Amino acid sequence: MRWLIDMRNSDWLLPMVAVIILFSIIFGIAFGLNAIMVNEQITKYNDGVCKACGGHYVYEQAVGHMYGTSYLYRCDGCDAILEMHFLPETK
Ligand SMILES: [Zn+2]
Repeated sequence: MRWLIDMRNSDWLLPMVAVIILFSIIFGIAFGLNAIMVNEQITKYNDGVCKACGGHYVYEQAVGHMYGTSYLYRCDGCDAILEMHFLPETK
C-alpha cells in the first residue's frame, strides 16, 4: 500500500514539474519578446519626433484587431505612419 502511494506521487510529480518548467519557459519567452517589442516601438516613436524629417508624430486613430488595439500616429512633416501597440507617454 505504501509502495502504491509512492508510485502515484512520483507519477504525478514528474509531469507536474515538466509542465511548470515548460510554462516558465513559454512565459519567459513571451515576456522577453514583449519587452523587445516595447523597446523597439519606443525607439521608433523617438519621443514623438520623426527621424526621417524631424516632424512630430500626431495621434490619428486607434485600430482594433483580434489580438488587441493599435494606435496610429502620422508625422506632420512627411506623412509617415507609425503603428504603436500601446500608447506612449504624452508629455
Ligand atoms: Zn516625418
